Amino acid sequence: MKDIKDLDPRELERVLSGWREPAFRAAQVFLWIYKKGAVDFEAMSNLPSGLRQRLKENFRVLSSKLVKRLKSSDGTEKFLFGLEDKNYIEAVIIPAKGRITGCVSTQAGCKFCCRFCASGVSGFRRNLTAREIIEEILYLRNNSSGKKLSHLVFMGTGEPLDNYDNVLKAIRFVNSPDTFNIGARKITISTSGVIPGIKKLAREGLQIELSVSLHAADEKTRSTIMPVNKIYPLKDLIAACREYIGKTNRQVTFEYILIKDMNSGLKNAQKLSKILTGMNCKVNIIPCNVIEELEVYPPEKKEILSFKDHLSRSGINVTLRRPRGADIEAACGQLRMRYEKKL
Ligand code: SAH
Repeated sequence: MKDIKDLDPRELERVLSGWREPAFRAAQVFLWIYKKGAVDFEAMSNLPSGLRQRLKENFRVLSSKLVKRLKSSDGTEKFLFGLEDKNYIEAVIIPAKGRITGCVSTQAGCKFCCRFCASGVSGFRRNLTAREIIEEILYLRNNSSGKKLSHLVFMGTGEPLDNYDNVLKAIRFVNSPDTFNIGARKITISTSGVIPGIKKLAREGLQIELSVSLHAADEKTRSTIMPVNKIYPLKDLIAACREYIGKTNRQVTFEYILIKDMNSGLKNAQKLSKILTGMNCKVNIIPCNVIEELEVYPPEKKEILSFKDHLSRSGINVTLRRPRGADIEAACGQLRMRYEKKL
């Protein structure tokens, strides 16, 4: 049995013409799945019953199972999916004023082992296929209380630029008017700093947003909390970001989570403002989520505010965000959402 999400409209048309069905039937099927949220061919009431039957015998709409769904008191909702090979992945819906953001995973597990992050704790399993990423988005869309999923962030488990081709394929698919029609400018890739991926992305000609998880402003601190820095050092990463901005004419966002006794002192803020001087960028600082197992705690409010003040006074476009979904994080691993209201 094939998964229908492996096909684009042209490919489905070809299958249907082999069945002596008119081409417009493919558009109808796409409409049902991607605009109306049908997950069962039986529900596609304007298709002849013989065609519905044949589709059912040959294709399925969903391949994974929704295993768990948790709702936070702040409206954030987390979904746990079981994949066909028994791997599990998470995705999140984050409602905010005027927008609904879906946060999706790109890998089952993670190999990057950031010191403050729960995702890598149980190791890396495998890359997700483009279809599995699309399926996460389909589930989120179908469960967003009838509201349109307006934004998408690749900030769930895994490193999107370490699964480059599948992530880009999924982005092009959901960006298409035939499917979810999510505008490129409303799609964000977040990377831990995989430089070859950043360079490649600069040449794609896509209007998507690039977010870089920085979390430290000197080589030593960054290597301690993000081992990826030993392969792609901060100095080269910042140079690659400057190059990206030059090539694409787009702003880059730096994510900086504040972790007590690790990266949140005034000295760190001074180093950060120095390395970002003159760059077309913005910085999101976010007090980290508590992860007891990793002994990761956010700093005091006073320290957070003085970090922010220093950046502002240095002329850096900085926003303080607060993590969301803290109460459901405890229930199933980690929720590291921030795209949200200011503190
Ligand atoms: N690998 C990519 C995307 C996944 S991580 C990246 O590194 O950007 C997504 C975001 O969650 C990153 O910015 C990461 O630093 C953040 N994150 C991880 N653990 C966190 C924690 N304990 N508190 C707050 N944010 C966290």
